[in-house]
Amino acid sequence: MGNIHIMDEWLSNKIAAGEVVERPASVVKELVENAIDAGSTQIEVFLHDAGLGSIQVTDNGSGMDEEDAFKCFMRHATSKISNEHDLFRIRTLGFRGEALASIASVSKIHLKTYDGKSGIELVLEGGIERARHAAPSRRGTDITVSQLFFNTPARLKYMKTIQTELGHSIDLMNRLALCNPHIAFKLMHHDQLLLQTNGRGNVQQVLASIYGIQNAKKMIPFEGKSHDYNISGYATLPEITRASKNYMSIFVNGRWVKHFLAQKAMTDAYHTFLPIERFPIVVLFVEGDPYLTDVNVHPAKHQIRLSKEPELLELIQTTIREAIRAVNRVPEAVKQA
Ligand code: ADP
Ligand code: MG
Repeated sequence: MGNIHIMDEWLSNKIAAGEVVERPASVVKELVENAIDAGSTQIEVFLHDAGLGSIQVTDNGSGMDEEDAFKCFMRHATSKISNEHDLFRIRTLGFRGEALASIASVSKIHLKTYDGKSGIELVLEGGIERARHAAPSRRGTDITVSQLFFNTPARLKYMKTIQTELGHSIDLMNRLALCNPHIAFKLMHHDQLLLQTNGRGNVQQVLASIYGIQNAKKMIPFEGKSHDYNISGYATLPEITRASKNYMSIFVNGRWVKHFLAQKAMTDAYHTFLPIERFPIVVLFVEGDPYLTDVNVHPAKHQIRLSKEPELLELIQTTIREAIRAVNRVPEAVKQA
């Protein structure tokens, strides 16, 4: 008899959790992205102890019926893709069907969900059902994840200070709010309000709630088009800079991604006018055929592979440069760049 056996689902979920659930902000990301995919127009996040105590996400989206509420914690359970064709045409933020299974395996979960006809209230611990109650009557989903990493002490020990962990969640929520101006977001830490947007679809209003009205007013809009990509966004004039590249955000088809070369194209647009080691605040939205973008690189989906990348980088650099040049207040050095 051979030595190989297939792991049970509980063990494989716990292993996958190591990749998907790095810290409280990863849970916030997965839960809020699910709320966005469910068509919500209002999403509220409440954190206790930066999410290490608990993370509650309340949405007014589609909700789930009783059957789906059980299924959603199963590995590879998703309503978002069903075949290979879909995998190359992804329009939703989720598609791997593993976030809830992973999160559930390393935390305690209280889910209340209702789709208008059916629903349920469920309590799970380490992915195992502990209680169920009648459905709530409000359409949408309310999910609370508490005692994150209660059964993985090594991971828990690795957590940074409350301030650092909270910083990650704030960063993430700011980005989700920027690329979803039609959704009203609220982020609370204990009784402190950290972000609130009105959901009226105005990116500049979101920028104002994140960076302050004065900075938002000084950001100039840009828009450009190439054969395969459309870009738009807002960028600060060289007089407003930050010491970190973290204030340059890139969204590709509604998903925030880390893209070193796109960041470089943004700073190159400013030519030599940026002070050394200073960076602009830029929000860049890229739209292109999903077929040109591959987000299936890492479970956290932060990375992306782009076809026609040189075309996009050129478009980013020239569009932002033109927008800066067009503003009279910019000194000659930039105009001639
Ligand atoms: P994925 O998002 O990749 O499909 P998840 O594990 O995050 O995988 O979620 C599994 C499924 O649970 C989703 O495909 C969706 O059908 C359902 N779901 C999760 N969260 C919500 C929510 N807030 N509202 C409605 N449905 C949800
Ligand atoms: Mg998901």
